[in-house]
Amino acid sequence: MLTPGRLFIGGAWRPASDDRVFATVDPATGEEIGSVAEATRADVGDAVAAARSALHDPEWAGMSPAARGRLLWRLADLIEANADELARLETHDQGQPFGIARQISVGGTAEHFRYFAGWTTKIEGATIPVSLPNVMNYTRREPVGVCALITPWNFPLMILAWKLAPALACGNTVVIKPAEQTPLTALKLMELCEQAGIPAGVVNLLTGGPDVGAALVSHPGVDKVSFTGSTEVGRSILRASADNLARVTLELGGKTPVIVAADADIERAVAGCVQGAMFNSGQVCAAYSRFYVDARRADEFVERAAEMAGRIVLGPGIAPDTEAGPLVSEEHLRQVDRYVREGVAAGAELVAGGGRAEGPLADGYFYRPTVFSGVDDGMSIAREEIFGPVMSVLTYDDPDELAGRVNDSPYGLAASIWTDDLSTAHRMAADVRAGAVFVNMLHTPDPAAPWGGFKSSGFGREMGAYALDVYTEVKGVFINLDPH
Ligand code: NAD
Repeated sequence: MLTPGRLFIGGAWRPASDDRVFATVDPATGEEIGSVAEATRADVGDAVAAARSALHDPEWAGMSPAARGRLLWRLADLIEANADELARLETHDQGQPFGIARQISVGGTAEHFRYFAGWTTKIEGATIPVSLPNVMNYTRREPVGVCALITPWNFPLMILAWKLAPALACGNTVVIKPAEQTPLTALKLMELCEQAGIPAGVVNLLTGGPDVGAALVSHPGVDKVSFTGSTEVGRSILRASADNLARVTLELGGKTPVIVAADADIERAVAGCVQGAMFNSGQVCAAYSRFYVDARRADEFVERAAEMAGRIVLGPGIAPDTEAGPLVSEEHLRQVDRYVREGVAAGAELVAGGGRAEGPLADGYFYRPTVFSGVDDGMSIAREEIFGPVMSVLTYDDPDELAGRVNDSPYGLAASIWTDDLSTAHRMAADVRAGAVFVNMLHTPDPAAPWGGFKSSGFGREMGAYALDVYTEVKGVFINLDPH
């Protein structure tokens, strides 16, 4: 398969300094599919040093913006040329259905590199009309420096692209630390970076667990940390990077509220809500999770949602008819199941799913798509991020109570509204405290549109022109024009 058990540092593949490795498993079978190096603190130091040295190397620092753009475009072409292999790796390592891996994870990754390839020649400064006499002022946007990119396991390749593409477009160098559960596509991407001709040391990869991430974010040679993962780890990263005052972008957890208004096209709403909840088996930061349904439509909504959830075909992602794959690990499955048990104990009504899949799927980490009705605002299934295939349906009588209830959450990543009424759509889109609002549609990111959270869902934005802000420093230059 891939160069087994190696780290990618300074353009060379090498084992961990103490030769330690760990296994990565296929969540559909529980079987080991690869052996990966467990980086040490010394490896972290070497990777940061390699990134620091490449940052100032004329081969990278002196590369023209157009040439940098061509490199990113070439990388996108290579991703497409290797799309089937990348998608198979993602499916086996993460569990997602092959179609999702191919179209969304890999297809989206290539598009992301193309989008940011276009930006390299457009990272402009400004000329500022300062009031100082005879002084000209202009700004330059310069790379921040060495960026630590730390990613989660739910969309391993795509989320890495969300960070790597803008970081390189802006001229930074990077050290990547993928999630320990799903390192394989990041490793493959390093091979493609080499083939694309990205200079040695510009992109480095350390595999390993939380300790490797922790050593990286507290390393004094790191100028910026871009992290996607849980809110709890996000907080610890912010603390760890404080001593160095590294710039930090955090894309954290969510508990996406969905409002289904009385006038919504209920068939379309149910289809969108179930898909939005169960997509990638609910392992999506913006997964539709708590549903506020107008009480007059609730019975109809619940009945159809339960029926639709019950029909979802579970199976290994690699099987062609699979609609939902396994959860990423046994540990995560137990956590999802614990929330479901809590919901039952709290008195919510389980109307679909609610347990591990049995029979031929019993060796994998498959969880049956689950729907709860009769959920109260205070229940843990309505408040906490489950990150699994679980819908919690609540009801409302008065639309005026909605904003208060929906916003009574520490999270603010995304929200969704299903309505045929234009004023309800725009009013709620303004009232909800969330980084992205989807009206009558799935939670679908686009490279050109900003992505990120309010409140405990993080800060900083990825994608679009907004991403350039977090991967550049602005420098103001003052020129005395007075000849005397
Ligand atoms: P996690 O926080 O457990 O781990 C994420 C990454 O951080 C992994 O690479 C892990 O090894 C590393 N890590 C763990 N402890 C660390 C530490 N102390 N210092 C540095 N690095 C450390 O998250 P996860 O379980 O992999 O992913 C699921 C979470 O990610 C969910 O909460 C989900 O909502 C969130 N997520 C958010 C977005 C978004 O765009 N906001 C997208 C995807 C996932």
